[in-house]
Amino acid sequence: MTVEELRARHGELLRDRRVVDHLDPARAPAGRAAGGHPAGRYHTWTQVACEPVRTRLVRLADVRDRPAAYRRDHLHDLQRTLDALQPEVLHLARAAGWAVATPVLAGVFPTGTLDGLSVPVPGRGVLVLVNSGLLDLVAAVLKIMTCALPNYGTPPLLTSEQASYALAEAVNAYLYGNGAVEARPLPELSGQRPALVGLMLRRATQFVIAHEVGHVLAGHLVGARRWTDPHTPVGALDAQSVGWSREHEADRIAAMIMLRSLDGLAPRELDVHEPCLVGAVLLVLFLHEVVDRLAEERGLVVPFAGSHPPPVRRIQSLVEHLADQARTPRALDLAADVATWLEDQLGGVREWFRLADEVRI
Ligand SMILES: [Zn+2]
Repeated sequence: MTVEELRARHGELLRDRRVVDHLDPARAPAGRAAGGHPAGRYHTWTQVACEPVRTRLVRLADVRDRPAAYRRDHLHDLQRTLDALQPEVLHLARAAGWAVATPVLAGVFPTGTLDGLSVPVPGRGVLVLVNSGLLDLVAAVLKIMTCALPNYGTPPLLTSEQASYALAEAVNAYLYGNGAVEARPLPELSGQRPALVGLMLRRATQFVIAHEVGHVLAGHLVGARRWTDPHTPVGALDAQSVGWSREHEADRIAAMIMLRSLDGLAPRELDVHEPCLVGAVLLVLFLHEVVDRLAEERGLVVPFAGSHPPPVRRIQSLVEHLADQARTPRALDLAADVATWLEDQLGGVREWFRLADEVRI
């Protein structure tokens, strides 16, 4: 019953902040989100980023100029993902020897931060708010990456130029879209790509939840300080500030919980799954680093900046921990590829942003 009470609190929060009235599944048919995307969608890979330059720039500028409305069907789909993933996290925590006595519910919310926000609900448990923008960003980036890198199928489905624009659109939507805007959806994947993207997306989202569960398990929220940030997409929001050393600890607990999911795999499976897991976990922090950097360059406020250690420090600390805990020799290779690819793409993204700055609609 308590989790249902947390769900009711989540619904209340969405209503109070005028995000949506409810996430009632009965009124939001599954699968409508992509088809109903306001900017249409790409149907084939050759269409991606191949419209006239002006059309593409206007689409970027439009997100910045006109605040989009939150779409209930979209948020409902994201909530369904969280509902499917959260029990796995709690199950893995139990398998790792941590009993989660406090009821926890992960709820989708436009928080504007790549970190989950724990909202204690007295007498009921902890509501973990996961940014709608984060879920969209990670999904888009994974899709673009697997289609742009030759590792996942040759020839790649996207050229480097196409990938640059697609990535610029995804990051633009994250930075300027208030957790309401998705980049124009890419075509469906085929071959080995959908399984890889699906797996890494699941792992990346689980890491965000597991980090917050880590705070609950380690008792960090007892005696935490309240941190209010007025600059989220929906105005002032409260989070719990626990200090940087405890943030590192929550990262390590989350990694430990996640690695338990590999227990019992045969060596050949482990060779495939461990690099994916490590890559997905670090992807969240790589993206954190990239969007923080771009936000700073563009003079945008990053909500709750400073509540966690800088992403670079978290990456360093977690890489050391993962290198120590990993069971396969190439466990960190995929993460290194992801980091290199993102870094290589940044120049292109900056250039699209600069051009979009000059557009007058
Ligand atoms: Zn934290």
